[in-house]
Amino acid sequence: MSFKDLGLSEPIVQAVSEAGYENPTPIQAQAIPLVLEGRDVVGASQTGTGKTAAFALPSLSKIQPLGKPQILVLEPTRELAHQVAEQFEAYGKHTGCKVALLYGGVGYGEQTEKLAKADVIVATPGRLVDHFYRGTMRFSDVKILILDEVDRMLDMGFLPIVRKIVNLCPWKAELNKPREEREEKYKLKELPDRQTLFFSATMPPAIKGFADFCLDNPAEIQI
Ligand code: AMP
Repeated sequence: MSFKDLGLSEPIVQAVSEAGYENPTPIQAQAIPLVLEGRDVVGASQTGTGKTAAFALPSLSKIQPLGKPQILVLEPTRELAHQVAEQFEAYGKHTGCKVALLYGGVGYGEQTEKLAKADVIVATPGRLVDHFYRGTMRFSDVKILILDEVDRMLDMGFLPIVRKIVNLCPWKAELNKPREEREEKYKLKELPDRQTLFFSATMPPAIKGFADFCLDNPAEIQI
């Protein structure tokens, strides 16, 4: 199975080939078609398995460059955010989509400039919310929300702030009810609808509960 067979767009297939990847890793082969289909996904996967490309390639394949935050990725640390942003830039280099990297401990100027034109935001949670309060980050165009390394975000005490961010993204009404019922009650097709991808190396009960809060009928992938 090649990257092209998985249904990725041409600019993405080209970037993957330039990165020197020949075949999808198992997590990529599982996740890419599900994400392209629009499914929410929950994945238990360690780094080193190709997880970043598993969520970055299909997400980038689904958006057009509009200069608005359409893909939002949360990472627990500045180092991870940096690595993931670099991968989005490499995989998206033929799409025209721009990436902004947001983390704390540095000034706002350069981040704010990049944020104003970006299609993909890769951020640590605290700094992202700071940008929201400063009026430089809006969530209404987010189509794909990616929560990465959620167990580490839990360990670092970030879950309340991540929950707030999830609530700021386009609304999904009463996630625990069957989709048909929600569509009927809330005319869901007329509402902006976000897709959520959720990754955690471990799934203790606190994480499982949080996944239920974030995800709509998710497909489970496990490596
Ligand atoms: P990750 O698990 O996302 O941290 O990725 C681990 C490393 O594998 C990264 O350096 C990627 O560049 C590389 N990688 C990801 N997917 C592939 C692939 N399909 N073939 C070869 N290398 C890959």
